[in-house]
Amino acid sequence: MADTTLMDKLVSLAKRRGFVFQSSEIYGGLGSVWDYGPLGVELKKNLKERWWRSMVHERDDIEGLDAAILMHPRVWEASGHVAGFTDPLIDCKICKNRFRSDDERIKGEPGTPTGQCPVCGNKGSLTEPRLFNLMFKTFMGPVEEAAAQIYLRPETAQGIYVNYLNVQQSSRQKVPFGIAQIGKAFRNEINPGNFIFRTREFEQMEMQFFVKPGEDHTWFEYWRARRMEWLVALGITPAKLRFHQHGPSELAHYAKDAYDIEYEFPFGWKEFEGIHNRGNYDLSKHQEFSGKKLDYLDTVTNERFVPFVVETSIGADRLALVTMMDAYAEEAVEGETRVVLRFNPAIAPIKAGVFPLVKKDGMPEIARKIYDDLRAQMPSFYDESGAIGRRYRRQDEAGTPFGVTVDGQTLTDQTVTVRHRDSMVQERVSADKLAAWLRERLGR
Ligand code: ATP
Repeated sequence: MADTTLMDKLVSLAKRRGFVFQSSEIYGGLGSVWDYGPLGVELKKNLKERWWRSMVHERDDIEGLDAAILMHPRVWEASGHVAGFTDPLIDCKICKNRFRSDDERIKGEPGTPTGQCPVCGNKGSLTEPRLFNLMFKTFMGPVEEAAAQIYLRPETAQGIYVNYLNVQQSSRQKVPFGIAQIGKAFRNEINPGNFIFRTREFEQMEMQFFVKPGEDHTWFEYWRARRMEWLVALGITPAKLRFHQHGPSELAHYAKDAYDIEYEFPFGWKEFEGIHNRGNYDLSKHQEFSGKKLDYLDTVTNERFVPFVVETSIGADRLALVTMMDAYAEEAVEGETRVVLRFNPAIAPIKAGVFPLVKKDGMPEIARKIYDDLRAQMPSFYDESGAIGRRYRRQDEAGTPFGVTVDGQTLTDQTVTVRHRDSMVQERVSADKLAAWLRERLGR
């Protein structure tokens, strides 16, 4: 399969099967904003739950948090986002199109006769680069004046920093400890695109780990290894994953050290998770801007210090894209092309499809009964329309790991056929043991 077409195929599958739709589609769509359909919402929820379980439930040194999207505007001054979260942009004075200054399409000196605008074709119509802030602005209260201006958060991390002492004291954690959060973030991206890779509204799963200064490097290496392990355990092809260490020119103003975890997308190796050693930049800044002490008292050594922070930050949408892309396969089967999403069963939106082989001899009734039992235990799907092969294919495209068919033999020995999505191998399982059999294989 040519990689250039993989994205088109995935976008079309995502729409056809109800993973992802364009936002406000009937109005022509809203640029780079997407909605998750019935299958997509399950996939994303499974990813978020898995992350939450590994960060919060399975550990005793990380607490959860759900901070508000709207925050005091001073937060974003302290974090550096008001001054620094900017891209240099160039406008065309004639056709009003806007470009990033490094955009390949506007090579040549801006504002001079060599600068050519690719959309309207005019020369010399481009402005000098101007800084453009990526934060969405809105107003709080009835008056739209500068004093009432607030922002939609461009990252979830700041909600953690401003609450770190609340969480530490209420949960009686001791450094080193972490705070994990999943939530929406908004960036008025100039070059969004590649489906749900870069969007203007997205969800982040971030964990900030607070450590004693001097122990930050060890924890940074620890989290770097844990995160890669987690992604591999999720089932992502290891050969398509790699680390990229930020060089001095790439490091963000706050970071001491940073690695991206990259995936090999059809459009190249791109970041989908970042692990950052942020030093004490954030807490020190919030201390300075709020005037409130944010240091930590180590009750054993009686030392006071502002903790260093090691952050892991992954986009839930970008991870959903990685898992869909990585799971996508086409195979020639009996002269046809079978499209299958080979999801790790743990994240598959639907766990089992239930089918009567034919719509007679009481098979639909038995299949319905099996489906009703299963549905209470795991997301399942009932389908009695069309040839059985077609019904299997529909579930292959949805990534459903198991197909359960009630057939002639079920009527005599109360077993059903279970078909495995990946191998297409079929085996017989006793109907009364089916739920337990499936749960065992789904790790539920
Ligand atoms: P990029 O360079 O791709 O814009 P970034 O370095 O700005 O990303 P971070 O600020 O480190 O990204 O955000 C952490 C994670 O949040 C990213 O690895 C990505 O998974 C996700 N993310 C960031 N921006 C977006 C976006 N516009 N759309 C979807 N996910 C995003």
